[in-house]
Amino acid sequence: MDPLAKDLLAWYDADARVLPWRSEPSPYRTWLSEVMLQQTQVDTVIPYFERFLKRFPAVEDLAVAPLDEVLEMWSGLGYYSRARNLHKAAGIVSEKGTFPFDIKGLRSLPGVGEYMAAAIASIAYGQDEATVDGNIARVMARVHADRGPRKGMWTHARQHLPPGRAGDYNQALMDLGARICRPRSPKCPKCPVSSHCEARALGVVDEIPAPKVRKAAPVSQLEAHVFERNGLYLLARRPVEGLWGGLWEFPTIGSAGKHWAKDERRRKWDAAYGVPHQAGPVLFETRHVLSHRIFQYALQRSTGEAPIALGEYTEMRWVQMDPKPSIGLSALTSKGLHALCSQ
Ligand code: SF4
Repeated sequence: MDPLAKDLLAWYDADARVLPWRSEPSPYRTWLSEVMLQQTQVDTVIPYFERFLKRFPAVEDLAVAPLDEVLEMWSGLGYYSRARNLHKAAGIVSEKGTFPFDIKGLRSLPGVGEYMAAAIASIAYGQDEATVDGNIARVMARVHADRGPRKGMWTHARQHLPPGRAGDYNQALMDLGARICRPRSPKCPKCPVSSHCEARALGVVDEIPAPKVRKAAPVSQLEAHVFERNGLYLLARRPVEGLWGGLWEFPTIGSAGKHWAKDERRRKWDAAYGVPHQAGPVLFETRHVLSHRIFQYALQRSTGEAPIALGEYTEMRWVQMDPKPSIGLSALTSKGLHALCSQ
């Protein structure tokens, strides 16, 4: 066996993290966990994973569930296109009667890319496939003192792959990246592969990988209005494609990455909803940060008429309001709703 893989697996066998998707691995469980873990921390994912499996024990259960229910179950995890792709892919798998067995077939499912296909193939099917996510890329870059692009990390990861234990090898590298070889202050003295690590030998661990130069994220203003009628509140549904797709929110206008020009919000509201813009007191304000965008959100009680046009929404509905409504809301709208209900 490759010497690095041998030391890594000895550490993993003795000290692997106990995670719910690691018991009884199956294509469905592995796929679900990998989709949830994209851009999301393990501790956040665990309760979502357990709730999902309880409600949708098999891929067929997920396939026949209404998208609204899936989005509601996803509420708070963010990156809702993942939930929409999950639902779409469940329909495809359920119709075929089985999960694809090879990388090409797995990659044909909506939302499944190169990393995830190889993760499912190795973990659920025991195929000898290496994979590379952010954690594994960082470990490989340091082990090989390689300052090059991500593509080269696939070559390094394949080079150490121990035939017959690819699933454990991939998960061990993910664990190593998350617990030991962290982006900042890696715990090299505790690292099971430190004797194979070129970056450590050369004293350049802190330089690899090179820090990303991030562009400042644009700030958008979002103004949402609360309309109340006979104890019901007006919610609007976003188009299925795009940010917060298919989720419900208070009717809102946005400034698309800019500050409002004079009178622009009034013009925008009137054009979108066919009624005059009449904003009352601000009920809730917050700054909401996504990976590439920042939103300055203000929820205001409207003193005007309810919209008579849909704007960019697909539907509007008067609903009974409670802090945990049974429809999918974005985390931002949930915060506004919570503030509204606690007044
Ligand atoms: Fe990462 Fe340090 Fe281990 Fe090298 S020795 S793989 S830098 S934790």
